Amino acid sequence: MHIVSVGVSKFCFLFAVAFCCLLLLLIPALQPPPRQLELPQPRPQVRPAQARPSHHTLVPAGIDSARATDSPTGLSGLEIQRRTIRTKLTQNEKHSHKLGVASERVPERDVGLSSWSKSLDMLELKDLFIAVKTTRKYHKSRLELLIQTWVSQAKEQTYIFTDGEDKELQMRTGANIINTNCSAAHNRQALCCKMSVEYDKFIESQKKWFCHVDDDNYVILPSLLRLLSSYHHSQDIYLGRPSLDHPIEAAERVKSDGSVSVKFWFATGGAGFCISRGLALKMSPWASLGNFISTAEKIRLPDDCTIGYIIEALLEVTLTHTHLFHSHLENLQKLPADNVLDQVTLSYGGFENRRNVVSVVGGFSLAEDPTRFKTVHCLLYPDAGWCPKFKPEY
Ligand code: UDP
Ligand code: MN
Repeated sequence: MHIVSVGVSKFCFLFAVAFCCLLLLLIPALQPPPRQLELPQPRPQVRPAQARPSHHTLVPAGIDSARATDSPTGLSGLEIQRRTIRTKLTQNEKHSHKLGVASERVPERDVGLSSWSKSLDMLELKDLFIAVKTTRKYHKSRLELLIQTWVSQAKEQTYIFTDGEDKELQMRTGANIINTNCSAAHNRQALCCKMSVEYDKFIESQKKWFCHVDDDNYVILPSLLRLLSSYHHSQDIYLGRPSLDHPIEAAERVKSDGSVSVKFWFATGGAGFCISRGLALKMSPWASLGNFISTAEKIRLPDDCTIGYIIEALLEVTLTHTHLFHSHLENLQKLPADNVLDQVTLSYGGFENRRNVVSVVGGFSLAEDPTRFKTVHCLLYPDAGWCPKFKPEY
């Protein structure tokens, strides 16, 4: 009896040990799989050898790019146009190669689909700081047209940097006009003085993106929002269009004594450019509180070149070349009519080339709207009070 009970308890003991071992083995298998750490997606800076399609091709099937980009601005009437544009994508891509050397040579940054759609709905007009550079003598001839057109759709986000008081314009339009007290001359010092104030005001604003344009640029706000939505403001992003087909070369007088030269790309100010907040903050040692003027003086280059120098040469961040920004250095007539509203900035020729304008057909003749900005505006915002009203065709 005693022997039997010892045998039983031995068996029980062994069985319990075996059961425990089995449990221990099963515990990891029963556990839910560990969650992957959600790290921010890197957005690689890719410069493939072949020209790539513009960022519009990144619109995922099923996502309505028209509504996605229009909603932040509350636009109407644009959807149909956008749908038409989308269906003509392949055709437009062919055209875009004709638009400028930069778009063919250096492609835009490759953007992951998931990161694009993730950030898309997060960017709104209020996140932008749009700086317009002007001068007192152009308030009537250039600035008023901008205030009447695109600036009216982004009044809170647009800051006009000038060099003289114009209380009347400020009162009448309610625009943000900032007198920089910089010289009204068209020289390096005066232009860099304005850029320096633009930079400081942007940093102060806490906005996500800094975009600079001249007073002869039209900004197509829905396109701008859509383009910037492809990136994240905390990344190092410098977007614009070079006016040259090669990098500029300058004597390196910031990091060394000027005995060596440095090559870098810069986005021409005449077509406008944008910088993410993350990158703008890194520019601070060479750009904030008057440092921009001394940096420009050291390399002896204008404001837009100095921006390129700080970003490409000092911070080693590459310019993302885009063909969506336009200056009057290009032949603007070559821009296909059905592609105009898809661009980010437009411009027009000065006195020397009045006919260098985009070809758009709308409610204004060339005599009534020599810059074509009113026509573009009424195509984008047909409900603006002063736009000609068309009877719908059935
Ligand atoms: N500008 C300025 N001061 C001047 C002349 C021009 O700030 O004395 C500004 C002008 O308002 C514009 C930019 O500089 O925003 C470029 O001027 P413009 O279009 O006349 O010249 P371009 O495009 O040929 O360089
Ligand atoms: Mn110009």
